Amino acid sequence: MNAQINVNAAKETPTPVTASRVLVLNSGSSSVKYQLLDMAHPSPTSRPSPATAIKGATRHGDNSGTRLASGIVERIGEEGGVADHAAALKQVADELASQGLGLDSPQLAVVGHRVVHGGTRFTGPTLITDEVVAEIEKLVPLAPLHNPANVTGIKVARDLRPDLPQVAVFDTAFHATMPEAAARYAIDRATADRHGVRRYGFHGTSHAYVSRATAALLGKDPSEVNVIVLHLGNGASACAIEAGRCVDTSMGLTPLEGLVMGTRSGDIDPAVIFHLARVGGMPVEEIDTLLNKRSGLLGLCGDNDFREIGRRMAEGDAEAQLAFDIYIHRLRKYVGAYAAVLGRVDAIAFTAGVGENSPAVREAALRGLEPLGIEIDAVRNALRAGNARLVSADGSRVAVAVVPTNEELEIARGAYSLVRA
Ligand code: AMP
Repeated sequence: MNAQINVNAAKETPTPVTASRVLVLNSGSSSVKYQLLDMAHPSPTSRPSPATAIKGATRHGDNSGTRLASGIVERIGEEGGVADHAAALKQVADELASQGLGLDSPQLAVVGHRVVHGGTRFTGPTLITDEVVAEIEKLVPLAPLHNPANVTGIKVARDLRPDLPQVAVFDTAFHATMPEAAARYAIDRATADRHGVRRYGFHGTSHAYVSRATAALLGKDPSEVNVIVLHLGNGASACAIEAGRCVDTSMGLTPLEGLVMGTRSGDIDPAVIFHLARVGGMPVEEIDTLLNKRSGLLGLCGDNDFREIGRRMAEGDAEAQLAFDIYIHRLRKYVGAYAAVLGRVDAIAFTAGVGENSPAVREAALRGLEPLGIEIDAVRNALRAGNARLVSADGSRVAVAVVPTNEELEIARGAYSLVRA
């Protein structure tokens, strides 16, 4: 309601309006997620708690972003859905207009687009030009499922508001600081370079947001802390962050590498692929589908939702228990590996659907790691809450945190800071 009044007032007044709104678009192959944020007002969800406000609020002055509207248009190009991305974005525009938040508002400063793969070319939020769109299209072979949809979303949004700045925020960008020792595979250099084969990492906006929020929770500047972020959703990745900069992450050329995920295998011996092709007679496309869509928790036990896996484990289901154990074993290996990569760990932060909601996963992942200075508090860990919080024991040398991720806010910050600069 307030927004409606403001918009009308803005239209009537001759004084210039401060454009402080950001539309964040996440265009997938069959869906468009959107969120409209106002960057001028502090967000009730991102405001630091009084205990951490002293340093958190003053040092991170961009800690704003009130969500004005959000939604999703699904089943694009499918039966019962809209025809294409142009129709989907038209629907987004209509939904926003019906709330008095139309795309024609002078308060809209910029559109921020999530783009999955930025290759080595894009290492931060980038103002979109024709040349940038062409570069993102060149990266399609590295992200054949995601980048084409991202590009379509960008093109349609640019057609809708050609006058408005649009910014691409890349999932890979946060990982651009990885040293070559972590980013390169140990394969023939010339072949790797010819085909862009290296470790790029993903979930970068989430790792950036959560590592910064974790520092704020500790009352520290990001440059003062080393953090291991465990982004555990249906896709999952770990990230080692030294003084605010990514130094290693578990996803690689594609999101297939690393942790056991909902439907992805994560790390396997690459020779498994040759074996399945030569001995199993499986075509490469089928192996691709196997490792990306029919592996991980789903492949191991038939379920990829931890709520269901937990229920089955409680009934003594051995298959579900083994899937859980394999998932946890891999996760613990990465915690140990990143403790070694960082040398000193100040905090471990859990985020995304599983990380935020499964005390059992958090507890199992860190059980018995007291010799590494990691001690989780059973009572704090079991509490359900929606805010960023510590779940470590008071004496724990390494803080253990649960931090709800907010990729939309991170994209909005990136896009807004670029056009405001
Ligand atoms: P995301 O990809 O971040 O949306 O995470 C989705 C996953 O989070 C689901 O597949 C579930 O495994 C997990 N999840 C969501 N809610 C819960 C919950 N209450 N308890 C345990 N796991 C959950």
